[in-house]
Amino acid sequence: MSARLVLLGSKGGPAIRPGGPWPTSSLLEIAGRRIVIDCGLGVTRGLTDAGMSLKALDMIVVTHLHSDHVLELGPLIHTAWTAGLADLVRVFGPAGTRACWQGFLQSMAFDINIRIVDEGRPDLRRLVEVVEFSDGEVFSQDGLTVSALRVDHPPVTDCFALRFDHAEGTVVFSSDTAYFPPLADFASGADILVHEAMLAAGVDRLVARTGNGARLKEHLLASHTFAEQAGAIAEAAGVGRLVLHHLIPADDPEVSQADWITAARKSWPGALTVASDGLVVEFADDSSV
Ligand SMILES: [Zn+2]
Ligand SMILES: [Zn+2]
Repeated sequence: MSARLVLLGSKGGPAIRPGGPWPTSSLLEIAGRRIVIDCGLGVTRGLTDAGMSLKALDMIVVTHLHSDHVLELGPLIHTAWTAGLADLVRVFGPAGTRACWQGFLQSMAFDINIRIVDEGRPDLRRLVEVVEFSDGEVFSQDGLTVSALRVDHPPVTDCFALRFDHAEGTVVFSSDTAYFPPLADFASGADILVHEAMLAAGVDRLVARTGNGARLKEHLLASHTFAEQAGAIAEAAGVGRLVLHHLIPADDPEVSQADWITAARKSWPGALTVASDGLVVEFADDSSV
């Protein structure tokens, strides 16, 4: 198995619309592991559509506790359990991740208890280990190192970019963040930088459509990064490829892939991918959109 990245859900924000893309989740296959990064709504369907047996689930990393990144954490693990999961799953996330998982277990206690007795399943509560992390090294084993950098995503303070280093390649996820220059150092030399991106032209129309205008716009501008700025981070970091992900807006018929490319090209001349649900990014891929 060579390293690859599958973008499962590519939109920013929790709302979904008919025929539109799903909130944020990704699958990183590296070092012989399958690692799920973020668990927005649709992650379980996305993983199965990507050809992954849910029984193979072993490592999940959540960047922060906004619902478009964590809403389906519990349902993913529970569904894997009903699909035959028998080995320990490790969930890495910021402070509060354990409470999130415990709350899910509590909400599903009836079903979990009855399936243990009725179907002879192992106790789901013992199949999951939650590790809460902060800045610095998160995990290191068999040549794979995962590290975290706190980014700027107000009002959330525990929000972390992630870096995965292995001989097969290095990939960095920005998580949700306002333009944050320290990310360039953190992503230095990575093969792939997956950076969130917002398009200025689409934000006003998105805000008008959603209904809570001024406040939503304020949040978006204070907490997210324009595609041009993501390009500037990629350029400063000298990465092999920039992937624009967590797109805002993601389902505006007046915004096309060409608009994203035009924006990123203002600052980034290198290999570029605009995320869509189910898109596979190979590490050695030198094609460019
Ligand atoms: Zn988000
Ligand atoms: Zn967020």
